[in-house]
Amino acid sequence: MRTVPDFPKPGISYKDITPLIEDGDALHAATDALHGATKHLEYDRILSAEARGFVFGTALAYRARKGLILARKPNKLPRETISASYDLEYGTDILEAHADSVSEGARVLVADDLLATGGTARAMCDLVESAGGTVAGVAFLIELGYLDGRSRLKPYEVVSLITYA
Ligand code: IMP
Repeated sequence: MRTVPDFPKPGISYKDITPLIEDGDALHAATDALHGATKHLEYDRILSAEARGFVFGTALAYRARKGLILARKPNKLPRETISASYDLEYGTDILEAHADSVSEGARVLVADDLLATGGTARAMCDLVESAGGTVAGVAFLIELGYLDGRSRLKPYEVVSLITYA
């Protein structure tokens, strides 16, 4: 992974995961590690958000032989949706999923590439709960520990493979 200073704006130290995704051995190892770190969790489906979340959500779903639910930006999904909003630095954003993707009582593992402030993952957990499902855990490849995003994800179990302290 590469750290890119001042992206997308001055003062932000951006973690670029594209080198890992482009390397076949690294992507394979990261997927296996994510699977190993989450296989004690009992879940029926994985929920991931566009766009980089789809990379690891899909890889993990394939490895664990689970289905993948897509969380998308507004108005991208064709059928009835449920939605959850989350705070950005200025304003809010919204994630949507198909209303019938999470059935009552379904156990869902939320997976994303990176945990920063926790807003995106929190919105995905809210989506699951609003549909009557339960969050089996929340998994990330990378955690920016200094932003303490995991405190927003209580009481769920949070798994991350690499932490930047
Ligand atoms: P959060 O909502 O603040 O936790 O931000 C996490 C979301 O933003 C994830 O879906 C990431 O893909 C993306 N993100 C935030 N910071 C970075 C970064 O430094 N590198 C790559 N993705 C990031």
